[in-house]
Amino acid sequence: MTQGKMDFIDRDLQELKDEGLYKNIQTLEGAQGAWVQIKGEKVLNFCSNNYLGFAADPRIKEAAKKAIDKYGVGPGAVRTIAGTMTIHKELERELAEFKGVEATLVLQSGFSANLAAIPALADKGDTIISDELNHASIIDGSRLSRAAKKVYPHNDMDGLEKVLKETPEGKKLIICDGVFSMDGDIAPLPEIVELAEKYGAMTYVDDAHGEGVVGRAGRGIVDHFNLHGRVDVEVGTFSKALGVMGGVIAGSKNLIEYLIQKARPFTFSSALTVPDTAATLEAVRILSESGELVEKLWENARYFQKGIKEIGLNTGLTETPITPVMIGEAHQAADFSRRLLEEKIFAQAIGFPLVARGKARIRVMISATHSKDDLDFALEKFKKIGKELNLV
Ligand code: PMP
Repeated sequence: MTQGKMDFIDRDLQELKDEGLYKNIQTLEGAQGAWVQIKGEKVLNFCSNNYLGFAADPRIKEAAKKAIDKYGVGPGAVRTIAGTMTIHKELERELAEFKGVEATLVLQSGFSANLAAIPALADKGDTIISDELNHASIIDGSRLSRAAKKVYPHNDMDGLEKVLKETPEGKKLIICDGVFSMDGDIAPLPEIVELAEKYGAMTYVDDAHGEGVVGRAGRGIVDHFNLHGRVDVEVGTFSKALGVMGGVIAGSKNLIEYLIQKARPFTFSSALTVPDTAATLEAVRILSESGELVEKLWENARYFQKGIKEIGLNTGLTETPITPVMIGEAHQAADFSRRLLEEKIFAQAIGFPLVARGKARIRVMISATHSKDDLDFALEKFKKIGKELNLV
């Protein structure tokens, strides 16, 4: 009787393969870093959000080990039941200082932070106004909220104002990524804040790719535009520049108190583990002391982007170290990526539906840990393969 009830799985998997959307995941035989090992070979790593090299930084590994000796590994349960550990409070306090906000709340991931904050702030009868290129976790958080959703064209302020004008009574929540992950462009936050103030909307920015990258010593998008106190909610992740795993919501004391009472992934999912918490705390301390690694990241990004343009390839809209090398059709980008791996460079091809058709690209994630020799090696290979594929 039960035969066939799971047949849809094979059918759907085959469909993904037929459409070229099936994800094949590489296995790394060691730590994240400028070079990683795949199938026994060292390859230059352009696929990681480990912007500052913190994922395997000796100071951060040591901090995690020490914390394990003191606190163990697991938090025991959700914080509202098992209690909060001192180390979580320390991280929340130091993150608030670093970001220049009154308070922060630490969650298990950036994804979880969006699922926590959005439904707590918007409900039935309210409206969420979202940039069309916002991250999947914002889309899912918005769905969970039961609020009405309106989408404005990417970074288009006339489009945003039009939506705001048409929005009925009820709370309004404007949400955008700070740095957009596929193009590396930055949201026009000052204009968004002005429109929000004009129309009485709350502002919410997901700064996953901005933290540790933009602003003074990586203090993020709000700091980059000097908008302290004018953005209601900042969400972040520890999994990119901070090199670890976890998420954060930052804002006023009141907001954080409210989320502690209301946000479901806080109330119903256990706290961030001890090593993650300690490692993130050490990353924040390193950044609080010096912006040196952030400067190195930008120096590397400028050097590589200039080199790519000199080859005759283009880097699209980027304003950050995220470097899309624009190729065109998805199959060409896939060929390019495959050839790069043969030449010992690990860089992903990104095509439809993640980006528009005809805008497929190789997405190069630059890190402060890349040396000038690494970048020169890569530029030479991009030139060679670009010629092979008649792109330059
Ligand atoms: N928001 C944005 C904008 C992101 O790019 C990401 C990571 N892909 C997330 C949230 C999710 O973060 P995490 O990996 O910590 O769940």
